[in-house]
Amino acid sequence: MKIAVYPGSFDPVTNGHLNIIERASKLFDRVIVCVMVNCEKKPLFSLEEREDFLRRVCAHLPNVEIDSFDGLLAEYAKENHCCTIIKGLRAGSDFEKEFQMAMINRKLNPALESLFLTAEHQYMYLSSSAVKEMGFYGADLTDFLPPQILEQFQQRIRNTSDNKEIKK
Ligand code: ADP
Repeated sequence: MKIAVYPGSFDPVTNGHLNIIERASKLFDRVIVCVMVNCEKKPLFSLEEREDFLRRVCAHLPNVEIDSFDGLLAEYAKENHCCTIIKGLRAGSDFEKEFQMAMINRKLNPALESLFLTAEHQYMYLSSSAVKEMGFYGADLTDFLPPQILEQFQQRIRNTSDNKEIKK
């Protein structure tokens, strides 16, 4: 059985992520979408919320499961019998960083392949941080966020903006 892991912060999952998950689910027997704990990033949503969002938007994909991990991805892949790491490659910025990560992961676990799926053209410049920034300025996000999470996302943005107002 071929198992792939698709790691990321998913803060929150966007239509760009979902497009990669759907395409990967056709290539592998199982795909584990793994929310990685990244101490350098201060997330808008808790780990549990991000996992819950992913479960809701991937409910139509029977061979996709959601997990989270605080540690080295190469270790996670070994423990969970994953043969491949899936990465989405957007225009410009992703390549250098991802190339370096692929080298490191291969060194840590030589049996592990990294597979890069190019972003769909309409999501080429889409990132979770761009969605959050657009959200704070009240932009329409229906083209960028899955409908199952849109309301909860907007609610959090409103609460966060209100708190910022109070602190001023
Ligand atoms: P970001 O916060 O930049 O959206 P994540 O850590 O959540 O990044 O991304 C997880 C993975 O998904 C990475 O491999 C990233 O390159 C990929 N990815 C993120 N956004 C997109 C997109 N719009 N299209 C394709 N791949 C994407």
